[in-house]
Amino acid sequence: MNRDDAKRQIRSEVTALKAYHLEPEDSVIKLNQNENPFDWPLEVKEEFGRFCIKHPWNRYPTFIPDTLLEGLANYAGVSHEQVLVGNGSNEMLLVLLLSLIEKGRDAIIIQPAFTVYGLLVKGLGGNVHEVLLNEDLSFNADRIAAACASVKNSLLILTSPNNPTGSVLTEAEIRKILDAHTGVAILDQAYIEFGGYNAIPLLAEYPNLIITRTFSKAMAGAGLRIGYMLGDASMIAQFKKIKLPYNINSFSEHCALLMLTYQDRIATQCALLSNERDSLFGFCKALPFDTCYQSGANFFLVRLTRTSDLFEFLKRKGVLVRDVSTYPMLDGCLRISVGTPEENAVLKRVLADFFAQK
Ligand code: PMP
Repeated sequence: MNRDDAKRQIRSEVTALKAYHLEPEDSVIKLNQNENPFDWPLEVKEEFGRFCIKHPWNRYPTFIPDTLLEGLANYAGVSHEQVLVGNGSNEMLLVLLLSLIEKGRDAIIIQPAFTVYGLLVKGLGGNVHEVLLNEDLSFNADRIAAACASVKNSLLILTSPNNPTGSVLTEAEIRKILDAHTGVAILDQAYIEFGGYNAIPLLAEYPNLIITRTFSKAMAGAGLRIGYMLGDASMIAQFKKIKLPYNINSFSEHCALLMLTYQDRIATQCALLSNERDSLFGFCKALPFDTCYQSGANFFLVRLTRTSDLFEFLKRKGVLVRDVSTYPMLDGCLRISVGTPEENAVLKRVLADFFAQK
């Protein structure tokens, strides 16, 4: 069989996809992936290092990561039967979509949003129904509720705070949408520690609601690949069946538990990063950007005509941001993640220099 014949064996929904892509990076100041810019201190790494030395590498992890499930359940204020943990929240999304989407099933996705949702739904043969944000990039709860009411039994994917816009949904807006919806709703709250309504209390009222969360952002654990979903215990029991056995390794499991014991540290960093975001946002508003968009997350969008000039200028000065100008509605937009105070000071200087040119 030649290479073309081999490729023809792959499902057409998959070959039709445009791959999720991120530029390779060699910049010093990395403000392109919404990470927590503070690494863990040496004492914590040493404590984890001692675990890695002592713990056998030749043995599988425990079949069910009970201690982590228990730790996450305490952290989230739910029972451990309501938690499923995996290799980043991306894996949780995959498990959910594998369980909920098949050829011809309808999914409502808000645009602009995190690209992976559409990629997975389309790859699995689902029909995507897009609902746009308002022109100012805020959510339009009425429009989403109307789509839910008209596309019955669909899968709804919401994100609050939303990536890449930082828009947030209020409790009343989420309730309005869920009350109109007749299928399962995934609410991705990857950035919840930075702002917006934490929807966990709604799980008791809406058994069709699943919330996904992650250690990759506020928890400063993007390298670990730990994410989790929270939902009604009977739903979680079903999703458990489709996740791969041993999907999280013993080391990440232990490290995640260790991080959970540092909640005060994380809360302090989130407060600092939210202040930094507000200061950076205020600074950008005073510059001649066309628009700066208020955000409830650890990043925000700016819009300008000379998008690629600014992107390249920042890159030459060692600052990497995310060009999201090809997303729907985001023509001319760059997404800036909030860095450490020192990094943000450099960013401010470089932005001022850019606009001071000519
Ligand atoms: N959801 C959203 C909204 C995100 O922005 C991201 C990462 N950019 C993810 C999920 C995936 O995160 P992870 O797999 O690292 O948990």
